[in-house]
Amino acid sequence: MHKVTSEELFQRALNVAPGGVHSPVRSFKGLDRAPVFFKKAEGAYLTSVEDKKYIDFCQSFGPLILGHLDPEVKEEVHRMVDTAWTFGATEIYSLELAEWITSTLPFMEKLRFVSSGTEAVMSALRVARAATGRNKILKFEGCYHGHVDNLLVKAGSGLAGAAASSSAGIPAEVAAQTVVTPLDDEQKLQEVFHNFGKDIAAVIIEPLPANYGLLVQRQEFLKKVAELCEKNGSLLIFDEVISGFRVGLQGMVEKTGIRPDLVTYGKIIGGGFPVGCYGGKKELMNMVAPSGDVYQAGTLSANPIGMRAGLTTLKKMQRLDGWNVLEKRTQKFTDTIRAGFAKKGLPLEVSHSASLFWIHGPSKTPIRTIEQIPGNQGATFKGLFLKSLEKGVYLAPNAYEVGFVSMAHTDEILEQAAQAIIDAAE
Ligand SMILES: *Cc1c(COP(=O)(O)O)cnc(C)c1O
Repeated sequence: MHKVTSEELFQRALNVAPGGVHSPVRSFKGLDRAPVFFKKAEGAYLTSVEDKKYIDFCQSFGPLILGHLDPEVKEEVHRMVDTAWTFGATEIYSLELAEWITSTLPFMEKLRFVSSGTEAVMSALRVARAATGRNKILKFEGCYHGHVDNLLVKAGSGLAGAAASSSAGIPAEVAAQTVVTPLDDEQKLQEVFHNFGKDIAAVIIEPLPANYGLLVQRQEFLKKVAELCEKNGSLLIFDEVISGFRVGLQGMVEKTGIRPDLVTYGKIIGGGFPVGCYGGKKELMNMVAPSGDVYQAGTLSANPIGMRAGLTTLKKMQRLDGWNVLEKRTQKFTDTIRAGFAKKGLPLEVSHSASLFWIHGPSKTPIRTIEQIPGNQGATFKGLFLKSLEKGVYLAPNAYEVGFVSMAHTDEILEQAAQAIIDAAE
């Protein structure tokens, strides 16, 4: 009997969805092959329709910090599926997750659940604009904040900080509401505040930028961002959709000691289900409807299955001291890869932070801005990705996406994956 292949499925998918996918990176664009179609995921592994097993470092781009189909989360999800799917009314499940978050993260005084990271960011910006009566948003080149119109922008020409849209379908007037400046550059930042400071409602930043490679920032730079916000009356928004509950229980707020006005979450907070969240200072969150006049709503917001998957995931991580465990495993894993690359004289390096890692070409200095990313990153990655795939390792299919280590990636699995990646690189 003929077994269906990924190639055939992709041909079908191309007929019904743009690029055959429902989120762009999934399409393997520029990688000269059809994307792998999967049919099953468990622990650290994915299984393709061809019945090939892969060690998965994409982990759905971050939400699955316990790995696929974690038994405890699975049990809780089953229980919830048998109890209720959605209420569109007040219920106890979002209350319990909200109470857990606000009592565990003191800077989250009040919060609102939504259904994606994009939605969380979009709503936080609305609050910031309402609170300050200003329109402009400052973002950093190389930070990603979802597909919010205002934030799909890149540096434009002209005045320092001016932005141009980076997607078709965004009016120039909308892009003009955003100011863009490079990461790691206090002087440019100061200049931008000098030019626009009185109009900047909020500065939004990924405190650990991990959507355009892994661009670990200097603490002094982040401090400067916070200081200039304070000085200019602009709100500081930490976009922790990827770093929140990934780098530690209290995320980058804990790591930097900086207290933002608002924080956005997504990914891990829903334990693999569509959940986002924004929150922070009480006086700001009280501006949100129905207690205030910033409108924001959602039919499926605070979906109980996501609430339960999220809470179970977070409590399990806390119980197992999971963040420490992952940090140690990832250190060992990346050290093994580094040693392997060095031993074979391969021009490759690995950056890592907590349980995130990113493979790239050699660089004399730490890579903190998109300009510092070695020029051949696309080509370097393509070869490594395709060979790794052959050897049963699934990296996120794009040169600028990071890898995620989950609790399901045991030392043994990581050792095996490291060898496969070293061999693939050769
Ligand atoms: C993933 C991500 C988003 C967007 O979240 P979605 O759930 O994909 O809409 C926003 N900000 C950051 C930092 C992210 O990593």
